[in-house]
Amino acid sequence: MSNRIDLNRYEFWFIVGSQDLYGDEALKQVAANAAVMTEEFSREKLFPSKIILKPVAKSPQGIQRLFEEASAAPQCAGIITWMHTFSPSKMWIGGLASNTKPVFHLHTQFNRDIPWKTIDMDFMNLNQSAHGDREHGYIYARMRLPRKVAAGHWQEAELRRRIAVWMRAAAARQDGIERVVLRLGDNMREVAVTEGDKVEAQIKFGWQVNTWGIGDFAARYNAVSGSAAEALVKEYETAYEFSDDAKNTRRAAVLEQAKYEIALAQFMADENAGAFTTTFQDLHGIPQLPGLACQRLMEQGCGFGGEGDWKQAMLVRCAKVMSAGLPGGVSFMEDYTYHFEPGKEAALGAHMLEVCPSIAGEKPRLEVHPLGIGGKNDPARLVFDAAPGPAVLATIVDLGDRFRLVANEVDTIKIENDMPRLPVARALWVPRPSLRDAAESWIISGGAHHSAYSTSLGAEYFRDWAEMMDIEFVLIDRDTKPDRLRDQLRWGEAYWSGRRHGL
Ligand code: MN
Repeated sequence: MSNRIDLNRYEFWFIVGSQDLYGDEALKQVAANAAVMTEEFSREKLFPSKIILKPVAKSPQGIQRLFEEASAAPQCAGIITWMHTFSPSKMWIGGLASNTKPVFHLHTQFNRDIPWKTIDMDFMNLNQSAHGDREHGYIYARMRLPRKVAAGHWQEAELRRRIAVWMRAAAARQDGIERVVLRLGDNMREVAVTEGDKVEAQIKFGWQVNTWGIGDFAARYNAVSGSAAEALVKEYETAYEFSDDAKNTRRAAVLEQAKYEIALAQFMADENAGAFTTTFQDLHGIPQLPGLACQRLMEQGCGFGGEGDWKQAMLVRCAKVMSAGLPGGVSFMEDYTYHFEPGKEAALGAHMLEVCPSIAGEKPRLEVHPLGIGGKNDPARLVFDAAPGPAVLATIVDLGDRFRLVANEVDTIKIENDMPRLPVARALWVPRPSLRDAAESWIISGGAHHSAYSTSLGAEYFRDWAEMMDIEFVLIDRDTKPDRLRDQLRWGEAYWSGRRHGL
């Protein structure tokens, strides 16, 4: 399967609940109103995938069948439920118990306004989601089911935005189920935070995290023809500015990276991989660390993690899927160093090489420099400053008994100073609420030094994704106080422990 991202592949099923009590006329009206809504939804540009209307749900057997069909349909990435009338929730228990898809509980009603002059009890009985959605919400709460709840009139832009965010998160979940994480080598020796339970990751997220020997990659690298690499370097020449030596004396280093890109892209397509990892400690048979190649593949939508970090590699892929077609970019990122000047506190993020040009605020420059680690050839890489603007950093850590997703809203700022001796792609940001409180909160939460960085996505995307994965979500934003967060994390221990035992 191609690892190209196409959100049109997915469908979202719209299930409108009712019951037989109302008679045929009312049920016909329910179906007709839902059809009008679905038709309007099909023209909504915010929605990345189709919403498919299903027959009105009105019996336990019918509801069970719908959820079973949804579970068996790989193109179905999620289910939107809405109770136009009252649909007794004991009828939903069987269906919801067997459901495997993310759920959005849309709390809306067909009419925006109360028709004051004409309203009668027939109208009340037909348009009673204020009533029916409470019964529906209860059964999710009673069954402790993850779901997103959003209220408002269905024609309103804010409600549609929230549906679209959830749809994108659900598409990332479905993509993850279909994908392999291709690991070239293991985690960096002795590092704790990049470790984790790969079996639990597959149970929880559906990710198939598997390792290939670096020799398999070296063989593919050696098989790439010089002419194919030359053709790709021509493409680089139109996309990026070349330093003088990259153009002339060090062109061989650029050609090497082009071969990595070709070999890796084919390797990933053959293994149906959505993300990959490398490690500078395992480069046997290849002359240098893939730098430019990783940047290029990320730009094409692949997830990537350095030092064998498969959790962040796949989180980067998820963010790539969630942000497909949106302005801004997504990259693998690493917190590197701080600026503690009073009033100008900021964090400088980068990686040894592998930062995605989708977040660049300028045309990237292709340069060749030594890498101070690994003892291999000098790798070619793209160098740029990240575009200023609001961004989110997100990371997944394995706490032994569960995964935790930590996110921090930050404001990336323009880099005012030249850094002539730091030839790597970098981003400078001011974390919310402040460098001090954000750093303390991140560290209290056990957040990793690696993360997925995005200027396309707000924190809501990661919250929705974590909710449908049924994992812990910790947001650090303008309202966060480290001491309060510490308490919240401690209460969370009780919640997640209970959840493990089915409570
Ligand atoms: Mn790293």
